[in-house]
Parts: sequence; structure tokens; C-alpha cells
Amino acid sequence: MRDYNQHYINGSWKTPFSSLSCDVINPANEEVAGRIILANEQDVNRAVESAKAAFTSYSISTVAERVEILQAIVTAYSKRIDDVAMAITEEMGAPYTTLSQPMQAQAGLGHFVTMIEAIQAFPFEQEVPNSQGQMNRIVRESVGVCALITPWNWPVNQIACKVAPALAAGCTMVLKPSEIAPFSAHVFAEIIAEAGLPKGVFNLIDGSGAEAGATLTAHPDIDMISFTGSTRAGIAIGHVAAEGIKGLALELGGKSANVLLDDCDFPSQVTGGVLMMMHNTGQTCTAPSRMLVPRDKLAEVEELAKAACKQIVLGDPMDPETTVGPLSSPVQFDKVKKLIQVGIDEGAKLITGGVERPTDLAKGCFVQPTVFSNVNNDMTVAREEIFGPVLCILPYDDEADAIKIANDTVYGLAASVSSGDPERARKVGRQLRAGQVKINGASGDYSLPFGGYKQSGIGREWGSWGLEEFLEVKALIG
Ligand code: NAD
Repeated sequence: MRDYNQHYINGSWKTPFSSLSCDVINPANEEVAGRIILANEQDVNRAVESAKAAFTSYSISTVAERVEILQAIVTAYSKRIDDVAMAITEEMGAPYTTLSQPMQAQAGLGHFVTMIEAIQAFPFEQEVPNSQGQMNRIVRESVGVCALITPWNWPVNQIACKVAPALAAGCTMVLKPSEIAPFSAHVFAEIIAEAGLPKGVFNLIDGSGAEAGATLTAHPDIDMISFTGSTRAGIAIGHVAAEGIKGLALELGGKSANVLLDDCDFPSQVTGGVLMMMHNTGQTCTAPSRMLVPRDKLAEVEELAKAACKQIVLGDPMDPETTVGPLSSPVQFDKVKKLIQVGIDEGAKLITGGVERPTDLAKGCFVQPTVFSNVNNDMTVAREEIFGPVLCILPYDDEADAIKIANDTVYGLAASVSSGDPERARKVGRQLRAGQVKINGASGDYSLPFGGYKQSGIGREWGSWGLEEFLEVKALIG
């Protein structure tokens, strides 16, 4: 039982003014795994005050000093990586051996390592001579005091995507992690404490979105908001940012197309696409949830998809054999089951899975990996982000039809294209309205930009692209 009854403010753990506690549920057994205290307005104000006071000196720190800080975090994080992973498994159910340790926890570390490289190569100041021989300068400097708000699905990855560039840019910050998955954020704050940052640069509060999140984002001393989560909350935060003319970066939902062109290697691309969809129990914003296949290949793809699902080991996230765990929370469990039922009611062809609880798992937020075929892009399951292990297979008539269907969504976070000819796949990829397009199952890289077109967001994270979000541009003339 984790009793996280303090917030990290101004360089030490402080008892909150609020006494309102919130239980955190382990979704693998639906038992209480710990509790946090939800911040009230006084707690938010104290955290912002601390970040504001630290800004004056931290914002003029040198690149060398910031590299030293990032390096100290990498060292402290490396020692605690198993603790980070265990916290993630307990709070949101990612399988420890196959996911939270080797991927989720490592991703957080990866963003700090990448940021050390990015900041050293970044042009913080450039000399720009004019035609009269006057030397002007373009200076990129920290945007200010930042509110960082993160979700539960890749909890530490998303914290690192924001804290690393904010620190690299010379910003100070208040982090409010998801109240559903706050454990790893506490381990992360312990890592920050161990790394010995200047007081007040990093502050952590727990709290709900409706109260602490809304109060924090609206605070007049917050200059910039970096948010990852649902489009619903992103819209609300966008309004708040507009009211205060605050900087804004939004990483929101997705409904990513996986276009399999007629000359691709179907056995490997279908299997890879299915397993990528089910990874993290389908709770990845870039999950390839719409598999687009040539109409005459539909029957073959259905068989391959069914076989791929048989490879999945669903169960206890602490069992080293498990590859897919439960959904993150009872709320998500209900939402996903409802949407599977909607798919059945709308007439999508159920290939495998369904709403019934897996027979060998009597408790926990487990749903069967589910595949629908012959899905029409107008169906709810093709339009809404389900955020669960549910794949939709959609037939298309020709390449132009595939591109049209892929782009027929309000989202634009990611996409994939496969073909025997990578140049053909890239040509299709260039026509997809998404921030990241993977060719033939290529793996990503933390130095590449990550973010969405359309309702998937505003701005980019990762590496130097993420750093730019936390910088203002100044013309220093003469
Ligand atoms: P959510 O939007 O409910 O919550 C995310 C965070 O925002 C939490 O910390 C929550 O407390 C806070 N919050 C909620 N309402 C708020 C408000 N009005 N003001 C300030 N803070 C508020 O989302 P979730 O349920 O935690 O996450 C699932 C969603 O997030 C999915 O739609 C998923 O696609 C999206 N997501 C996107 C990305 C990405 O990078 N694009 C990554 C992860 C998750």
C-alpha cells in the first residue's frame, strides 16, 4: 500500500493544505493499491509561487549547468528504473517484464538522454548581421513558469516528454500527473530530489483535472501549459489558455490508420499491426486502430489477425509471460466494453474477442483482445478513439480510396503504410494528414518530432522539437 500523502514543493516534501484523499486502484485485481491527497486552490497557489520564485535564477542558468542537471537526473533515474516500472505496473497494469520495465520506464529515461544531446546542439543564440553592418542577435529563452498535465497510459514517458525539455529550456514547473496513475510520478519526484535540482524548479502536486488541473492552468502566473490527454480536456484547456494568452502545447487523441498496400508482406504486416494495436492494452495514442486492407485480401487478413491474437498472453501483469495486461481503470474498462458492444450492434463483423470477460480471469479490468472486420469508416468504432485492445479492419478499393479513408477522421496523430516498395509507401505516407507516418513497421526515435495534425493536438514533443515548445524568441537588436 503506497501512502503518498505529501506533495513535492520548493525542494522538499510538504503536507498539503487539503485533506481530501483519493484511492488509487490496481486494475489487475481492483484492490486499493495506495492513496494520494488531492490539491486544493491553496496547494496549487503554493506550488506556482515556488516555481515563480525559482524562475528568476533558473531561467538564466547556462546550458552547461542544465546539462549537469539533466545528467544528474539520468544517473538517479537509472538507479531507480525498476522502482519506476513497478509503480507503473501497480497504477495502470502494464505487464512488468514485457512492458513497464523494458519500455515504459526506459522511455522516460530515453527522453532525458536525448535531451542532453539536443540541448548541446541547440542554437540558443544566433548572430544575424544586417546590411548596414550592425550585428543583431536572435535569442531563444525560456517561456516561463509551466503547468505540465499528464495522463495515465504512458505515465512516466509523458512526464519525461515535458519535464526534460522544460528543464533544458530554463523553465520552472508544476507537474500534475493523472490522479488515476500517480505512483510513478512520486517515484519520479524522488528521483528529482536525489538529483539535487535548485529549489522550486520542479514541483509536484496531486489532484483531479476538474479542480487542481483547472486551477493550475488558469493561474495568472502560469505562462505556458503543456497537456497530454483527451481531446475533451484539451479543448477545455485551450479555452483557459486563450483567456490568459498563455503558451499552449496539446498532445491529444488519435485514430491512426495502418494502410497495407496490395504488394506488402501480409503475414508480417498484419501480425505486426495487430500486436502493435494490442500493446499496452490498446491504450497508446498512436495505436494503429484502423487497419486498411485491399478488399480482395479481407478474408486472408481476417485469418492472419485471428492467429496474431492467439500469440497474446493476457493476464496478471506480474507474470513474466504476460504480454497484455488489464485496462488501466474500472472507468476505462466500462468504456471499452460499451464500445465493443456498439461495434457489434452497428454490424461490424466480430472476428475474435467480444464483451465477455476472459474465462480464466475472474477479477481485474480485463477485456479480450477484439478484432472487428468489414468495418465501414462511418461506424462509431472506426471514428471514436476506443483506447482499448480493439482493432477495426476496413476494406478499400484502390490506393486513392485507402488515402481518403485514412484521412477521413478528426484526428491526425500517426499512421503506418506498408508496401514491398518503400518508395511507394513513402509516397502514400506524404499524402496522409498525420504528424508521424511509419513505413513498413519502422521503429521510432526520441529525436524525431511527435505530435498531431487536426484534433490530435498543437505543437510537437521529443528532442529539439520538444525543446522549442518551451522557448520564446527574442530579437536582440544592436
Ligand atoms: P484526461 O484528459 O481525462 O486526463 C489527462 C490529464 O488531464 C489528467 O491529469 C487529468 O487530471 C487532467 N485534466 C482533465 N481535465 C482537465 C481540465 N479541465 N483542466 C486541467 N486538467 C485536466 O485523459 P486520460 O483519460 O487521462 O487519458 C486518455 C486520453 O488521453 C486518450 O484520449 C488518449 O488518446 C489521450 N492521450 C494522448 C496522448 C498523445 O500524446 N497524443 C498521449 C496519451 C494519452
